Amino acid sequence: MFCRNCGKELTGSPEICPNCGAKPMSGTSFCPNCGAPTTKLTEICPKCGARVAGKVVAKAGGDWMPLTAGILDLVAGVPALLIGILVAAGLGALGRLIGRFSGVAGVGVIMGAIGVALIIFALIAIVGGVFALRKRTWGLALAGSIFALFCAWILGIPAIVFTVMGKKHFK
Ligand SMILES: [Zn+2]
Ligand SMILES: [Zn+2]
Repeated sequence: MFCRNCGKELTGSPEICPNCGAKPMSGTSFCPNCGAPTTKLTEICPKCGARVAGKVVAKAGGDWMPLTAGILDLVAGVPALLIGILVAAGLGALGRLIGRFSGVAGVGVIMGAIGVALIIFALIAIVGGVFALRKRTWGLALAGSIFALFCAWILGIPAIVFTVMGKKHFK
């Protein structure tokens, strides 16, 4: 083998390189198989094809992103759902009154529809939020975050960012 620190050919696999005193596998400057120069970013030796990088450590962390996105979706969606129900009921009734007095039919329907739309947005945000919390079905989680944006943009924007950044944590 070759010392990864100084590139000297070694016999056997000594704990300490007799040439430089380092642990032979602790360096990143040379291929342990053929002694070709490598960098700390080299994973496969360009000369002999040996795998020179140590175990590729799975990047830990980032797990919190889907969870945070899911919580944001729910925090945006649940109040929006309640508000949507109130708006649908209240504006619908108010609209019907206005419609009756103004003679313009359909005002109640339009105003009620605003509330119904908010209910639908909120439901999608909530469903997406649940999927984000379970780290499943990334597309639905993203849809939830986008609809959370309609419910409360200040929550929806970070929810979208965390959903996109945390994509690799979804199953
Ligand atoms: Zn050495
Ligand atoms: Zn090599």
